Amino acid sequence: MAGRKQVAIVGAGPAGIFAALALSDVPGVRVRIFEKGPDIDARLANARRKGKARDARWLLSGWGGAGAFSDGKLTLSPEVGGQLTSYLPRPEVDRLPAEVDGMWLRVGAPEEVYGGDEDAMSELAARATRADLKFVATRIRHLGTDRCPMVLREMRRALGENVEVHAGEAVAKILATRGVASGVEMAAGKRYRADYVIVAPGREGSHWFVEEAARLGLEREDNPVDVGVRVEVPAEVMAEVTATAYESKLIFYSKSFDDRVRTFCMCPYGEVVTEENEEVITVNGHSYAGKRTANTNFALLVSTRFTEPFQDPIGYGRYLARLANLISDGVICQRLGDLRAGRRSTAERVARGLVRPTLETATAGDLSFAMPHRYLSSILEALEALDRFAPGIGSRHTLLYGIEVKFYSARPHLTERLETEVRNLFAVGDGAGVTRGLVQASASGLLAGREVRRRAESSEQ
Ligand SMILES: Cc1cc2nc3c(=O)[nH]c(=O)nc-3n(C[C@H](O)[C@H](O)[C@H](O)COP(=O)(O)OP(=O)(O)OC[C@H]3O[C@@H](n4cnc5c(N)ncnc54)[C@H](O)[C@@H]3O)c2cc1C
Repeated sequence: MAGRKQVAIVGAGPAGIFAALALSDVPGVRVRIFEKGPDIDARLANARRKGKARDARWLLSGWGGAGAFSDGKLTLSPEVGGQLTSYLPRPEVDRLPAEVDGMWLRVGAPEEVYGGDEDAMSELAARATRADLKFVATRIRHLGTDRCPMVLREMRRALGENVEVHAGEAVAKILATRGVASGVEMAAGKRYRADYVIVAPGREGSHWFVEEAARLGLEREDNPVDVGVRVEVPAEVMAEVTATAYESKLIFYSKSFDDRVRTFCMCPYGEVVTEENEEVITVNGHSYAGKRTANTNFALLVSTRFTEPFQDPIGYGRYLARLANLISDGVICQRLGDLRAGRRSTAERVARGLVRPTLETATAGDLSFAMPHRYLSSILEALEALDRFAPGIGSRHTLLYGIEVKFYSARPHLTERLETEVRNLFAVGDGAGVTRGLVQASASGLLAGREVRRRAESSEQ
């Protein structure tokens, strides 16, 4: 169709997919979604392979992005999973999670929602207060790692005929002419003209986006970096809490440094896993809808916002993770009792502990060789408080895996519709530093997609 508006979306994670859904079947609009990784069926086949036959890159990259093999917890509270509250008017932030949730439900997310029993949640909040912790009440729908790819495949099927998926095609450059987005250039050199560009590259593509943002002259703000460990305990230690809240968000301020320490990504009956990102190996966790382990795991993270002159929090986090990789050939696992006693864990000590590690490839060792004193002290203090909240967390058998690092990518200055200083160039999701979870990533894509739709329909330039 002559005069058709062209939209280029970079990245097919939840943010890119929801942007495409917002533009699906809009007359007069043609959408191309470029994804450097493979399509969902090829990713599933890869994930089923074992050992070296499995390509670790495609666990985070490809149709569905990092969401495809995530734990699939849809956190329905606007305070959690990103910073949309700092861009949007409050009523809109409150409305978006429910809207996004409805879209996930339509493509196969399960009906059950945790955290709805107000009395039980109040009791958890009171118990947290007594333990010197702040409890952030959240409602959660859990898909599970086994269901995520299926749901994301349904989203692909739901796209209208005006959306073309270009899997296996990496965007190398964002094109702009006189301060207005004008297209994308592929790694192979081909250019696609576009009236609107929505960039949704995820954490996987955040390095690339930082470089592109610098080339385009976009101002950016640095975000904090979160450094910590993954804690693994017998599932019964947390059973009462996880049955009520599924995931409890608990915040602690350390006595020695006044650092903010928080629990993150609780995985009841789950598994600890490794995450490989540009040759750095870190820890993460997930759980399945259809199978259970004997353990529950969660991250315990300390937030740091560096002040001038240092401006590379991502580099700092990667440096620490690389140090842990250097001394352990990957990820370190240590019993809490060994850490407190100032000795390394050995495979033999871990084997006779009460918690059987779900990440068998982790090397028993000593986290204090890789993690600065400030982080370790804050984590140890937080574990004491958590033990008062759920007795058993502070057991000497508790396993700590390290290190876990969460980068909020550097974020460009964005308007309340998530548009950058380049007109018609939008930046959404985790890669733009705006979000760090499925619901907010989806919501940010939806917002940008709708704004593009409004402009395209009104022929606004
Ligand atoms: C193990 C694990 C468990 C998780 N569990 C949860 C959970 O339970 N709940 C929750 O809310 N969140 C969870 N998350 C986080 C969640 O997956 C992310 O917040 C979400 O996927 C972010 O969406 P996104 O679209 O911004 O980015 P992503 O999902 O990372 O997708 C970005 C996509 O862009 C592609 N891309 C990057 N650069 C380019 C380029 N130049 N050209 C073309 N394509 C490009 C990438 O290949 C990738 O596929 C988990 C993450 C992991 C890794």
